[in-house]
Amino acid sequence: MKGEKLINPTVSIVGRPNVGKSTLFNRLTGRQDAIVHDAYGVTRDRHYGESFWNGRTFTVIDTGGYLPEDMDVIYRGVREQADIAMQESDVILFVTDAVSGVTPLDESLLEMLRKETKPVLLVVNKADNDGRTMAATEFYSLGVEEMWPVSSLSGSGTGDLLDRVVSLLPETADLEALEWPAIAFVGRPNVGKSSMVNALLKSDRCMVTDIPGTTRDSIHSKLEYGDATYTLIDTAGLRKRAKVKENVEFYSNVRTDRALRECDVAVIIVDSMQGFEDQEKRILREAERYNKGILIVLNKWDTVPEKDTDVFKEFETYIYDRVPNMTWIPILSVSAKTGQRVEKILDRCGDIIHERDKSISTPDFNNFLTKIIKDRALPMKRGRSLKIQYATQVKQSPPVFKFFMNNPEEMPANYRKYIENRIREQFGFTGVPITMIFRQK
Ligand code: GDP
Ligand code: GDP
Repeated sequence: MKGEKLINPTVSIVGRPNVGKSTLFNRLTGRQDAIVHDAYGVTRDRHYGESFWNGRTFTVIDTGGYLPEDMDVIYRGVREQADIAMQESDVILFVTDAVSGVTPLDESLLEMLRKETKPVLLVVNKADNDGRTMAATEFYSLGVEEMWPVSSLSGSGTGDLLDRVVSLLPETADLEALEWPAIAFVGRPNVGKSSMVNALLKSDRCMVTDIPGTTRDSIHSKLEYGDATYTLIDTAGLRKRAKVKENVEFYSNVRTDRALRECDVAVIIVDSMQGFEDQEKRILREAERYNKGILIVLNKWDTVPEKDTDVFKEFETYIYDRVPNMTWIPILSVSAKTGQRVEKILDRCGDIIHERDKSISTPDFNNFLTKIIKDRALPMKRGRSLKIQYATQVKQSPPVFKFFMNNPEEMPANYRKYIENRIREQFGFTGVPITMIFRQK
């Protein structure tokens, strides 16, 4: 019923630059290509992946990414990163380097990490051979009880390490306690995500409370609105902890990715005066890829000058122009500052959750299909006309339709689009990505 929500425990990889964090990350997540290009051609590093071991799934975060220029910045950055990683994760892998041995930064990082209550595993990387594995025992001088020599390059030692990691993960039961539909507030820093939560707190119809028993209650809260109960996933709230710019961006991306996976509806918050740029497109693409409900919220509407009736239409056109074929995503203008229309966000989310869970009966759907094919005939391919025998909705939350036909591989993109448009026209699904599968009978 709730779709494909994933709430995984999180393991973070921390340590100073060049010890092999990214290499270990790739090893643990089975990803060789740390650089990916998304649909909009934006190149970015992958720092967030999934690992499966002994029947458990968990999320791995690679906190790498400092280019050694200014040593002072690195020191501050790495320490702060470790601090946030501690907050954000269930287990920490503290990575060091068998070749360079113990360094002062290792010592100070470990000292800091040990002040917290979460489990920290000391990993000594680059232990590629017996000699280096022996040398790794030097790290016992840091006062740890256990130590994990591994070679991220060859993979040796990583199986034992993973056994230990899995033994330390919290019970999933805890994490799956979030049974309500989940709404995520996402968007780049400063668009007003925290202000939005604060504005909701002021509303008489809303109650936002912590969810006890979750390991990351700072991110998930319980939101009661009228008769409905939701899980609110808040991706803001890092400012107090993160001062270094790279860290703010990094953790905002990490939290956004996680929130998009965990939610049912992604509320993409945009600053009306900043525009809809690559970052927004990327978030939107990702939400669509995960088949989540989507609402675009234009915040700071109070700062828009001359709001005559056409201005909102112009904003809409501007956004839809940037993301072709996405006019099914509703857009709402609000002001977290004045409170204008903020409750509407929840009304719309409620609608979207309902739409996403909608199910169309097979007879209704096939009557509809017959009609739209009559309105516009299926194209001919190599002298034969394409034929759809029948179709059925095989899934809801998110909706998936399966079409049985001859030569599915010949189905042209424009006819798919035609079907999708007509489905939306007839059945709604406002704010909801639709998956269509074409199969040979
Ligand atoms: P990060 O800055 O901590 O993320 O470090 P990287 O993963 O980028 O690795 C730094 C360097 O160490 C790269 O040249 C890696 O190829 C190398 N490296 C990583 N793991 C190992 C290992 O297990 N053995 C050896 N010999 N080299 C490694
Ligand atoms: P976050 O980083 O996305 O959580 O953004 P914040 O909620 O911290 O807001 C960033 C800045 O924008 C703060 O200075 C807020 O006061 C301001 N802000 C947020 N919402 C509004 C709004 O609706 N109107 C105006 N004028 N300012 C806003």
